[in-house]
Amino acid sequence: MKFALITGITGQDGSYLAELLLQKGYTVHGLVRRNSSTTRLRLDPLFHDKKIYGERLFLHYADLDDVTTIRRILNKTQPDKLYHLAGQSHVGASFDIPESTCQFTAMGTLKLLEIIRDLAKQPKFLHISSSEIFGRPDSGPQNEMTAMRPISPYGVAKTFATQMTRVYRDSFGLFAVNAICYNHESPRRGESFVTRKITRAAAAISLGLEDKLRMGSLDGRRDWGFAPDYVDAMWRMLNQDSPQDYVLATGITHSVEDFLAAAFESVGLNWQDHYQADPRYVRPAEVSNLVGDASRAATELGWKPTTQLAGIVKAMVEHDVHLLAKS
Ligand code: GDP
Repeated sequence: MKFALITGITGQDGSYLAELLLQKGYTVHGLVRRNSSTTRLRLDPLFHDKKIYGERLFLHYADLDDVTTIRRILNKTQPDKLYHLAGQSHVGASFDIPESTCQFTAMGTLKLLEIIRDLAKQPKFLHISSSEIFGRPDSGPQNEMTAMRPISPYGVAKTFATQMTRVYRDSFGLFAVNAICYNHESPRRGESFVTRKITRAAAAISLGLEDKLRMGSLDGRRDWGFAPDYVDAMWRMLNQDSPQDYVLATGITHSVEDFLAAAFESVGLNWQDHYQADPRYVRPAEVSNLVGDASRAATELGWKPTTQLAGIVKAMVEHDVHLLAKS
């Protein structure tokens, strides 16, 4: 039997990863915050499958600062692999709540590494890092060697966690790696992220439920990939013989405006008729020039992204139209 533990299992990536690992024959344990019941929707199909939930999928309550509880869970479940996906993952929100962002994203990762360091049976450990660690880089595309220059509280917290993961690998011999992920989206993306906010609004407006979409700057460019591709790469990373960090990205950027135009066009609407600028969504600082070079992942993991922007927009808009038409 193979055992995996996922922190952040109720999130977009956690839910896709749980499905993938179950398909691969793993028994999957997930850490869940006591108050994350509303977001557990993403696990609903697995929950209601009697052959899965309680048989091969188990959830355990623990916050990332419940060190004793997490140690107990790890001792009991003895995972071979630990995927650490939990944390406050919203860059914009991190300017409003920098302390809790660092508490969970930075210190939470260190606490997990400390627990693993003491275990007799140490799982392979993957930390989900972020392109936000690069901030405003001098050059692009960025790879695993690019200097970290974060410019948001979230980026700073992720830089701490990324570097600490390297320290525990280099100094304490842990199999500990960073998946340096560029933005990755899907129908399961949280509604406060710009892509989902747009596809939800396009769906609602096309169904006559809403009329306006209030947003911040449309100029930002992102390297947007498809979340299921990224969890597949994470699984490959922990099946390597030696620990290595990987950039996961498509290598192509689009502007927020491009995404907006594509989403509205897919439901026969013109975005300019519905867009309203709202300074509340403008950030104190914006990353720029972020585009990833995933050639190490291509060469060593045999990984490449399967879905480009058009496919991502289509999947997300169709999902949101279906969801809103039902309700
Ligand atoms: P991240 O910041 O790259 O992790 O991803 P987001 O999806 O939150 O934001 C992507 C880009 O969209 C950033 O450049 C934001 O400034 C921009 N943006 C513009 N309007 C909005 C908005 O209303 N909400 C969010 N989340 N982002 C917005």
